[in-house]
Amino acid sequence: MLSIRHWKPLFIQHQPILICLSYLAPIEIHAITLGPIVFSRNKIGAVTKNHESIHFQQYLETLFIGFLLVYLWDWLMGLFKYRDGRKAYFSIRTEQEAYRHQQDLTYLQTGRRRWTWLKE
Ligand SMILES: [Zn+2]
Repeated sequence: MLSIRHWKPLFIQHQPILICLSYLAPIEIHAITLGPIVFSRNKIGAVTKNHESIHFQQYLETLFIGFLLVYLWDWLMGLFKYRDGRKAYFSIRTEQEAYRHQQDLTYLQTGRRRWTWLKE
């Protein structure tokens, strides 16, 4: 059996609803991870797939609800601090881990330690 660190989310591509969501969000959304499912606007590239797979691992280690609570908390704290939705988004600890390591396509298989985002 594959260890949990090798689990991957389910990728559902070509979802134009993300274009609508982007009008509400501080950044342009090309993909979003909701629990075990990743929705993407177009065909998903390797780097984005890696970014969203990092989020999936964060979801697993926080039993899903924890990810959403941390995400919301960090975003609100960022908004309070920066008064800027885009800066608030990039201040979210789980996003910082995902952006920092998205280019390293072996990160999830080899380098990642659990709860890394807590140290961001
Ligand atoms: Zn992200």
